[in-house]
Formats: sequence, C-alpha cells, structure tokens
Amino acid sequence: MSTHAYSEECPNCGFDMESYQDNRPINTCGHYCTNCGWYCQPTYGQVELEELNDWRKEHNENNEWTKEDEEYLSQLKELPECTTDPWEAVNERYKNE
Ligand SMILES: [Zn+2]
Repeated sequence: MSTHAYSEECPNCGFDMESYQDNRPINTCGHYCTNCGWYCQPTYGQVELEELNDWRKEHNENNEWTKEDEEYLSQLKELPECTTDPWEAVNERYKNE
C-alpha cells in the first residue's frame, strides 16, 4: 500500500485534520482541515533557468567539483525538458525500457 492516511492536529484551529502520506512515485504528504480550510499539499514544477543555474553552481561549489569531474554541472543556456507531474514523469522515463 502506498498511501497512508492518518490524522494530525491542524496548526491553525487544532481540529483533527485529514492527513496522508504517499511513498509513490516519491514521498509526499498532505493535510486538509475540514474545520477551518487550512491545507498543505505538495506542488510540482520546474524553476526558471536562472535559478537552476544557481543550483548547479552551488552543487559544484558545495562538492568542490571542477570541470574535470564527471559530477560537474555546467551552466545551461536553456531549461532541460521537464515533466512536472511525478506520475507522468516516471511513466515517461520507464516507457522506453
Ligand atoms: Zn483547522
């Protein structure tokens, strides 16, 4: 079973919220308070090119990787293709195997 439902106290009103935890296709969780409407849910997306390049630069700096290293991530001129829905993304990646 990949979805675990449980209840957790709403941070806003203290009501027992409906909460869930999924472990497929990645670990996510969500909370929905049926008393006051507070919610928390995962969002999926792709960052802008500038931010991605910042991440890639930091990745190199934090690991002290240089252009000679296999793990080194160079700066990109355009965003790579990205399927933001995790189920679709996983299906895409495995469809040619
Ligand atoms: Zn609440």
